[in-house]
This record gives sequence, C-alpha cells and structure tokens, in this order.
Amino acid sequence: MTDLLLHGCSLFDSAAGVLVPDAAVHVRDDRVVAAGPAVDVAVPDGAVRVDLDGGYLLPGLLNLHTHLSLSLPGAAGARVEAMGPHELALYMASGARRTLHAGVTTVRCVAEKSGADFALRAAIEAGEVPGPRMFTAGRALCCTGGHGAGSPDTLECDGADAFRRGVRSQVALGADLVKLMISGGIAGEHEAISTPQLTDDEMAAAISTAHDWGRKVTAHAGPAEVIARAVERGLDCVEHGYQLTPEVAAQMAAAGTALVPTLVVTRCGAFFDELGVPAWMQARSLGAADRHAASYRMALEAGVEVLLGSDMPPFWDFEGTSATVRELEHMAELGAPAGMTPARALQAATLAPARWLGADDRVGVVAPGRFADLVLCDEDPTADVGGLRTLRWVMKGGRVVRDDRVEALR
Ligand SMILES: [Zn+2]
Repeated sequence: MTDLLLHGCSLFDSAAGVLVPDAAVHVRDDRVVAAGPAVDVAVPDGAVRVDLDGGYLLPGLLNLHTHLSLSLPGAAGARVEAMGPHELALYMASGARRTLHAGVTTVRCVAEKSGADFALRAAIEAGEVPGPRMFTAGRALCCTGGHGAGSPDTLECDGADAFRRGVRSQVALGADLVKLMISGGIAGEHEAISTPQLTDDEMAAAISTAHDWGRKVTAHAGPAEVIARAVERGLDCVEHGYQLTPEVAAQMAAAGTALVPTLVVTRCGAFFDELGVPAWMQARSLGAADRHAASYRMALEAGVEVLLGSDMPPFWDFEGTSATVRELEHMAELGAPAGMTPARALQAATLAPARWLGADDRVGVVAPGRFADLVLCDEDPTADVGGLRTLRWVMKGGRVVRDDRVEALR
C-alpha cells in the first residue's frame, strides 16, 4: 500500500465547475482517497508528499472521438492502410502511449481497423503497453459505399438484418459502444456531407439491437434531417453535426442526445497538408467551417450536452499544442457567445464525457474512490483553456507517467 499526498496546487473540481485554491489530493495505490482544500485532507502517517509547485491539477482528459488507426485519403493514410497486422498493432500502441503522455487518460475509439483496438485495450489493461483507458466501438457500421467504406475500420451492411448482425458482431468482439455512419462526410470522395446513407429501418435495427445489448450508439452525421430521424429512433450521440438547425438541436436536447462537435476537423488545413490529403477533401473541410461553428452554437443554445473529441489523433502536435487541447480551445472560443465558459469547456473534457460513458464512478472527477488519473499545468485553465498548453505532468492510476521537470534533469 502506497500513500501519496499531492499538495501545493489548485484543483479543478469538475463536479462543481470551480477551482479550489490551496488544494491537496490523497492517493492510495491507484485510487483517490480524499481531495479538496488542503486543510480538509488528512495526511496519513508515512505518506509520500509531492509538492506540485503551485500548478493547476485537473482530472485526466477524456477524448471521445479517437481513431488510433486513422487513415485519411492521401500518402500518409495509404501507408497506414498498407500495414500488416503486426505493424498496425505497434503503430496503434505508439499512438496510445503518446495519447496518454498528452494528458488524455481515457479515449472513446469510434472506428478502428481489423479488431486491433480490442488487442490494444487488453494489453493496456494488463499493463503490457502504456496507454489511456479505452472504450471502443470496434469497426463502424456503414452502408455499401458509405462513409469510410473500403477500409478495415468499417463494416459494410445493407438492410436491417445486416445492421443487426453488424452490431452483434462488434459486441461479440468486445465493443463498448456502437458507431454508425448515417450520412456522408469530409473524407468520402463520392458523397457530400449532406448525403443521407442509412434508411429508417436500418437505423432502427442497429440502435434497438445495440440498446438490447446495453450498448450506446453514436453516429457520424452531418445534415439535420438525417440526425432528426436517428434521434427519433433513440440515437445517444452525434459526431460532428455539421449542419444542425435550431429545431433539431432542440430535439437532441429533449432526447438527451449528446454532441461531439470535433470542430478541429474543419480547421486543420495544416494537418491535411502534412498528410497529403487530396484537394477536394481540403476544400470540403475548410468550406464547411462556418456552418459547422454555427451548428455548434445552436446546440449550445438549445442545451445539448457537448463533449470533447478531436477526430485527429489526440496527441498530434498541432498549432503549438496537441489536437486534443486545440479542439478544446475551439470549443471555448467558438462557443463563448453561446455561454461556453472555460470551466464548462473543462467539464466537457472531463466529467461530462465520463457520464456519457457510464464511467463517472471511475474517471472524470477527482473524488474518493475514483482512479487517480490527473494532469498538471502551470497556467490556470479555468481562466483560459489554453492554460492546458503548459501541461507538464500526467498521472494514470496513481502512477506518474510523465514529468517534464524530471525529464529536464536527465
Ligand atoms: Zn472520426
């Protein structure tokens, strides 16, 4: 049994959405025993005291739209597509380690190739490779020729029976949730963002089967009309939501359907250049940016629960920070006119996604009984979420997995 007392820090209380100055956290083995104002946290005899030098401590971040095996059209994506199973597993393990070091201690994978995600999840849980806690959908389900078709991170289904079978096949492999592609998107050459792709009976079959097996369903979706039909049939979460209307946003809020806006995917020209994506995809992405931002604000105004998800690899070095932090900056900045404060954005990166996953008894908040998954930064992220650019220390399950000050001493 190891007792740690983390002190000399301010703590973001993700349940109350406030910063607790002069805070302390008592960690025993992999869990939090007590957290709050230092005067209220009892110090056990023999505890190892860790002075955090006036830093800002937060729950580890959750990124709900992750692909560790992402391959977009273009040269970089073609390299990933060409990988054999061993190469792919190592490539994804490298991404998992970098994701954890970027302060993302939990991910939700929403389409991964060839079942490698299940092997990776097991290896992380066994302590064989470093990485975040993983919740995964396995392969995404799409229609023939639909969004993402032709890659081993999707399964093409047509008709209600095939969608039922698709859901069951991923659950049988160990899927924690189900991902559907219900409309076109940015990365499909023969479709538009607004192309409807699943019929009502296909959506109903997939969603009801997943729910019967106790799995939530999220959907890649652009146009309001398609989203409305899926929400009517019980959809739990919308990815991107490029073209919402106030009416459909209100319908989502009433149904309790969340939104993972992935704002960075229409703001990442430099990333696409780096990957060598074709011109048509660049144009479609950047051309959708303004409507995408307006759609996000409609969701906020309607009271939809919004959650952090980057779509880009969570750790990717992008515009001076990670793709995860850049996405959170976009959420705060573009959402500010609709009431998105930095504290609320931090909740969208911690407790709110933990609740969606049904994991808020384990992660998303620094409270007794939860895993000691923590990140530390030098600047106050409740004043400006850009404070997360100064992230320099990461703990997962009570073990420090990154400490830049120690690294600097080497
Ligand atoms: Zn995606």
